Amino acid sequence: MTDRHVPRVIPLTDQRSSSLPIPPIMADSAIGSGALLTDRRGRPLRDLRISVTDRCNFRCNYCMPKEIFDKDHTYLKHTDLLSFEEITRVARIFVAHGVQKIRLTGGEPLLRKNIERLIEQLSSLRTADGQTLDLTLTTNGSLLARKAHDLKSAGLQRVTVSLDGLDDAVFRSMNDVDFPVAAVLDGIEAAREVGLGPIKINMVVKRGTNEHQILPMARRFKGTGMVLRFIEYMDVGATNGWRMNEVLPSSEVVKLIHAQLPLVQLEPANPGETAERWGFADVHGRHDHAAGEIGVISSVTQAFCGECNRARLSTEGQLYLCLFAGQGYDLRQLIRAQSTDADLTTGVERIWRARVDRYSELRSALPFDPGSPVRRIEMSYIGG
Ligand code: SAM
Ligand code: SF4
Ligand code: SF4
Repeated sequence: MTDRHVPRVIPLTDQRSSSLPIPPIMADSAIGSGALLTDRRGRPLRDLRISVTDRCNFRCNYCMPKEIFDKDHTYLKHTDLLSFEEITRVARIFVAHGVQKIRLTGGEPLLRKNIERLIEQLSSLRTADGQTLDLTLTTNGSLLARKAHDLKSAGLQRVTVSLDGLDDAVFRSMNDVDFPVAAVLDGIEAAREVGLGPIKINMVVKRGTNEHQILPMARRFKGTGMVLRFIEYMDVGATNGWRMNEVLPSSEVVKLIHAQLPLVQLEPANPGETAERWGFADVHGRHDHAAGEIGVISSVTQAFCGECNRARLSTEGQLYLCLFAGQGYDLRQLIRAQSTDADLTTGVERIWRARVDRYSELRSALPFDPGSPVRRIEMSYIGG
């Protein structure tokens, strides 16, 4: 066993119960003025990720290593979770402030009982100019074959499925619960059949673990209308024992694919988009639309904080302004203290206007000590 394969997990420092005070009104604040809500760096609020459960049936070693998330791990109690009505109430306020896209995540969101009821409620929300939301969900795909039809009927528009390889042995070892890849592929097919598209496929690339799956994955999804995105393995959370030498930079992923399946770079589809887009090229070196495209998300090697327009609502109603934040703001307390919508609105405005987060830009300047109890929230708690 090489050093790279020795499990390195760091004990969990429970950050879930601590929260930040809501910031005071700043002198230059435009609260209540009807002005576009922007943070201290001029970034608007466009994208809300909502984690609906902290539980998962997988134990991906980069996210919920089973040495930590074992039978003794304490998950949130059901009464601690935001109810569907509470989630929808908060979401409505965010939508009134410019949010256009809501992504349900987790843990594994399809494990939350009656998730279809939440989707029905969220799909009835409209943006200030009367548009429907871009309502999507990220899943490990294990329950998708069973649930795709009901999710679509409830109003879900599309799904992103996480898939770290096509080789069954590699896939089983990465999910660490021996789950077969064929069942996830069936889930993707079911989602395609009911029209939960365009489907995105997310592959986390870990050097020394699954980089040999990059080309088979690119070949498999080329020409299917699905967009495969390669994600750099991130130092999110504090338990996965992250090391820089396990990150395969996106530039290498692009080079590897381009050598076999020529690519051309495409313009970003939306402002704030995290993925760099590359289209499969035709024989003239132009984008072959029928062959489709891939995306690379370079969260480690190329910071995109300058455009970051997303907020994350944890399973128990803490609002996080950055994936790498150590603490969030306790919206559940505000909700359960009988606050009016006006109180909640002011809270959200104050929090977003005071936002300065830009962890990825600062990462290289921060010391990373894998032995120290890092104060950072886990990905399975706030979602990806
Ligand atoms: N369970 C669902 C799933 O796996 O799709 C949703 C939650 S999961 C936390 C969301 C996304 O985060 C997944 O695509 C997963 O691969 C990604 N992810 C988790 N830990 C990561 C890490 N350390 N680096 C990069 N991506 C990570
Ligand atoms: Fe579960 Fe998703 Fe985390 Fe894997 S990445 S352990 S499927 S929450
Ligand atoms: Fe956004 Fe934080 Fe990621 Fe920067 S590090 S892109 S601020 S989530």
